[in-house]
Amino acid sequence: MPGLMQDNDLMISSLIRYAAAYHGQQEIVTRTVEGPIHRYTYAEAESRSKQLAKVLINRFGILPGDRVGTLAWTTYRHFELFYGVSGMGAVLHTTNPRLFAEQVSYIINHAEDRVLFIDLDFVPMVEQLLPELGGIEQFIILTDRAYMPDSSLPGVLCYEELLAAEDDQYDWPTFDEKSASSLCYTSGTTGNPKGVLYSHRSTIIHALSAAQNSAYGLSVYDTIMPIAPMYHANAWGLPYVAAMLGAKLVLPGAKMDGESIHDLIETEGVTFSCAVPTVFSMLFQYLEETGKKVEALQRTMIGGSAVPKAMTETFRETYGVTVLQIWGMTETSPLGVIASPTPEIDALPAEQREEIMDKQGRVQFGLEIKVLDEAGHEVARDGVAYGDLWVRGPWVTSGYYKAEGGKVLDQDGWFPTGDVVTIDQYGYMKITDRSKDVIKSGGEWISSIDIENLAVGHPKVLQAGVVGIFHPKWEERPILVIKPAPGEPPTEAEIKAFLTGKIAKWWMPDAVFIVDEMPLTATGKIKKIALREQYKDCLSG
Ligand code: ADP
Repeated sequence: MPGLMQDNDLMISSLIRYAAAYHGQQEIVTRTVEGPIHRYTYAEAESRSKQLAKVLINRFGILPGDRVGTLAWTTYRHFELFYGVSGMGAVLHTTNPRLFAEQVSYIINHAEDRVLFIDLDFVPMVEQLLPELGGIEQFIILTDRAYMPDSSLPGVLCYEELLAAEDDQYDWPTFDEKSASSLCYTSGTTGNPKGVLYSHRSTIIHALSAAQNSAYGLSVYDTIMPIAPMYHANAWGLPYVAAMLGAKLVLPGAKMDGESIHDLIETEGVTFSCAVPTVFSMLFQYLEETGKKVEALQRTMIGGSAVPKAMTETFRETYGVTVLQIWGMTETSPLGVIASPTPEIDALPAEQREEIMDKQGRVQFGLEIKVLDEAGHEVARDGVAYGDLWVRGPWVTSGYYKAEGGKVLDQDGWFPTGDVVTIDQYGYMKITDRSKDVIKSGGEWISSIDIENLAVGHPKVLQAGVVGIFHPKWEERPILVIKPAPGEPPTEAEIKAFLTGKIAKWWMPDAVFIVDEMPLTATGKIKKIALREQYKDCLSG
């Protein structure tokens, strides 16, 4: 028997409509690409998102389901695209501008973007790629007339002029909540990038989960600054969560250096932020050099790669900030697990508590996880047995755009994450490796993440990457590559002495290399493929 409750479709536009109606004077503050700080309200953001929807419909003939591309930083104009594009029924395709040029054009063509909105910095890149971008009908630069560059892009238009030509008399349409809303490609460390196609329903349910107090402890009293860019899994959903809560939103634009981030935290009173660990390393460096603090900041959500223990400790002990580690993927919208506490964990002795809180975390309601061994059996939840992590839930992908990679789910709808993890009796998951990064030495597994985590605890180490290299006797052995902190670099002997006693003897890297630059992926993670390639013969004698 059907229930008798209303079943209105969950629409992304309802978030901005709510924020404008009930938190209309709440601020959205941006460090613009042009330079100055821009501030306006949710009410103005909704008006302009409606103007944008009308531009797409009236000026460009964009239809529901069409892809609208962006190459843009985290700004209020990109925020308007988040709502204007999805709100009118089209699909917002955010491209990561840090990918290789060929990947950028591959993605834009694969998505069949009809129009492309570009931030000023990326105009030269698009000009170079122009011969590859035959499908784009219209280029629009995200700026006003005063900053419009002299560009070779054919028929290029100015965002502010387009908006000014439309009014905000527009009613957000309602349609099937399962309709596609936005598209984000994974960086594709192997093969071509693959598109994850979010829906209105998945986006709202993901935002509801992330907005729960038991997730990041957020409320309307917070000032939220996503440093994770809007092209990286939609800034981890925070532009939606902030509107849902009516919380003040601070958008850092193109500048993610320590000084710029510190400045926004202090002047705008940012209480909550999120980024990959490398961004916070840059902030720490700036704070150390200047002796400054981050008075306003209460909590940071860090994920994308493992959070070094030393980072959590510095945040807590030196700056009074709580770190909430998350694990997630573009495929999981991205929130997978969060290392948020429970009364049960709080009651444990300090050392045990910290050990658990340094793991990637536990699931929130709505997501299911399971860990299977090679034979396909669930491993014991004892924090020791490890296996492949599978996830299932309403904000997890069911397959890639245009069926790239074929069928990905198993027959019960579980998605294979490609991560190798343990799970403990309290339900906290700890990632030991990406399955393709796992190091197998003499038949035993070594966790590259654990060694990296310890190595960055050395004061002379800024970044550490561990990879398995072919070894004639042991199959593979770990090597450690270090980018030193400013000042005198560490020696191999110092690093090995530092690790001694903290890891099993046979986990000790066979060699330590000190480098000036660490190869990073487009989302700021250590590019292990490049390290493996560079050092592939270093242990072969
Ligand atoms: P991209 O490489 O494009 O950034 P994703 O953001 O989807 O792609 O990367 C997801 C992967 O990042 C996960 O499968 C996992 O291997 C890694 N990852 C994410 N969060 C963490 C974390 N907290 N600790 C360790 N690894 C993580």
